This record gives sequence, structure tokens and C-alpha cells, in this order.
Amino acid sequence: MRDFALELEDRKQAGLYRIRRQVTGPQQPSLVAGGKPLLSFCSNDYLGLANHPANMDALRNALPETGLGGASSHLICGHHDAHHRLEQRLADFTGRSSALFFSTGYMANMGVISALAGRGDTVFSDRLNHASIIDGCILSRARIRRYGHGDVAALESMLAETTGHKLVVTDGVFSMDGDVAPLADLARVCRAHDALLVVDDAHGIGVLGPQGRGSVAESGLSEADVPVLIGTLGKAVGTSGAFVAGPALLMDYLVQKARTYIYTTAMPPALASATCASIDLIERDDARREQVLGLVSRFRREASALGYELMDSRTPIQPIMVGDNPTALALSQALEDRGLLVSAIRPPTVPVGEARLRVTFSAGHSREDLDCLLNALSECRHLLQRPDLAI
Ligand code: PMP
Repeated sequence: MRDFALELEDRKQAGLYRIRRQVTGPQQPSLVAGGKPLLSFCSNDYLGLANHPANMDALRNALPETGLGGASSHLICGHHDAHHRLEQRLADFTGRSSALFFSTGYMANMGVISALAGRGDTVFSDRLNHASIIDGCILSRARIRRYGHGDVAALESMLAETTGHKLVVTDGVFSMDGDVAPLADLARVCRAHDALLVVDDAHGIGVLGPQGRGSVAESGLSEADVPVLIGTLGKAVGTSGAFVAGPALLMDYLVQKARTYIYTTAMPPALASATCASIDLIERDDARREQVLGLVSRFRREASALGYELMDSRTPIQPIMVGDNPTALALSQALEDRGLLVSAIRPPTVPVGEARLRVTFSAGHSREDLDCLLNALSECRHLLQRPDLAI
């Protein structure tokens, strides 16, 4: 039999073993993890909506009306009014004709890509796309061509030499680097080469663009440019689930073909009602976006001045580049010793040699929270072992 224990031990030796921390109480910047009070800089609750009273009230108020469980898949008897209302709200919010609610973003990517591409087709995928996109590509059985991160010229030459159905898929905001895809250029080459463009804006929805409509809206692109828009609801929206938005014909096709939509239990409908309430807040409240993006700019200025290497990101995802796994773990531990929770991200989530601390900001963070992080980073600079810092 395969030696699973040995494989785990090898992982530990390589600094790649992942641990789970048990959180007690609500997910918010000040939390209790592993029994310890910590100030967290690693959640994706970018707008601090995960515990917003209006969203929690919406959940509570919906429960007597909808009950709790999803009971069945959407195509059997699980498709509830509340799901339908959320789909209409999401279509309206994203400026799309139609939308489809999935149980998770992982399932949305797997289901959409494998439904829209198949044997004999070609899928083009950015080298830094999220794991769920990679898995969706594999599941589709289409030919997979990876292009360099954000390299539209490379993509264009690949598209030019490919015949048959072509699907291009990209993160809108890259989950581990925080940068935004060159969406206008991607849309242009897709149009020129008759390729279908799919954008997963998991980290852009709520944060970027007018009224938080995401990176695609920020780039001034419409449904004609980006026919398939995917978003998750467990990040800035603060609840759970995901959606795909686009032309009604495509949504109809996905209902028939996306296996991760068809063969899974519908999410509790009350959660859909809470999500509608959260979208209302996102649309109305620019202050949350201003708060989080204000923290981001101050962090970038001050962390760079401390000598930390950051990525070219203007989003709440602000990785501190470290390089090797042991140093990333040591820096994360040193921050934890100072009361801060910032997770070390290592291969295979990021390329080998590019281990980092993925710092994320939320509108729930205060200026004082950022002071704590910057003070701790100042104290921990020596761990970077960079002679040029002369600490
Ligand atoms: N796409 C991207 C870009 C992501 O970062 C993630 C989650 N980390 C997902 C999809 C998956 O979304 P969910 O957590 O809803 O499954």
C-alpha cells in the first residue's frame, strides 16, 4: 500500500504541511484562533460584511418563510423563490441578462468550464489562475494551453494558430498576487479570434468598479465583451455561494449541462435572502470600499518603506514576497507571536520559490489595526535575511 504517513512526513520536512486553525466566534479581524486572541489579516471578507447586522437580520427573517435545508438539487425540487430572486438581483447588479446561483465558486468554475468546453475544443488559461479553474479545465477534457501571466500577446499568438472552439479563462483579480487581469485587451483578442471569454471575478466583485460591480465593470466591459462572468459570494459579499452571469441562452445551457449545478443540493434558500441584503449594502455603501482601499494604500507605502517586497496590486490582496518556505513560515510565526494572524502561502498554491505572506485587508480593519501590523512588520524585518536591508 502507498505510504501515506511517509508522504505527510516529507511534506513536513519541506515546510509544506498545512495546518487548520480552529476559530471560535464570528469571523472578523479580531478573532480567537486555536484558543488565542489574534488580529487577522487573512480573511477574504474584504468589506467586513460577513457579520453585518442587516445581512444577519435578512437571514433570520427569511428562515420562517424558507425553512433551513435546500432539500434537493435545483432541477428536482430545490429551486426556491429566494434563489430565483437572488439570481435576478445578481443579473441586475452585474448588468447581465441573466444569472445562475451555484453552491460554491469552486463548483461554478468546474461546472462552467466543463460545460462550455469539451473534447476537441481548446481552453486557454492564465498560468496563475485559481485551482478551481485549473480543475475545471482538466475536467472538460479539452486541450489546455496555459499562457504566461497576463501575457495577452502570447495568448493572441496561441489563439491565432488554433482552430475549433476556443475558450479563454482568467481570474479578474488574481487570488495570490492581487493584480487585475488585462481585461480590455483580453476581450479584444477574444473578439478578434472568436474565443469565448470567461472571467472569474471572485476577488473583484464588491471591491472594484462602480458600486462594487467588479473588475469587468471597472474596465468598462459589457456582456458582449465578457459573455461569462463568474463571481463568488463568500468573499466581499460576506455570505456563501457563487454565481455565473451572462446571456440567458448560456445560462439555460448551463442549467442543462453544468454537472456541479445539476447534481448537488441547493444552498439553504435563506442564505440567498441574506446575500440579496448584502448586495444592497455593496451597491449603496462606497464608504466600505474607500475604507479598505485607503488601508491598502497606506500599507503599501509604509511596508515598502520598511523594505518589504510587495506585488503590483491595488486590491485588498497584498502579498509580502518572501521566497523560501521556511522563511515564510518563520515570518508568519513571528507575527503570530505578536498577536497577528497572517498565513504563509507556499507551493503548490504559488510557484516554487515564491512563498509569501498573503496579507488581506477588510473594511472591518481600523487604522489602529494597521498600525499593529506595521509595527510588527518593522520588528520582524531581520527574518527576511536580506543583506541590503542592513538591519
Ligand atoms: N475563484 C477564485 C479566484 C478563488 O480565489 C476562489 C476561492 N479562494 C474560488 C474561485 C472558489 O470560491 P469558493 O470559495 O466560493 O469555492
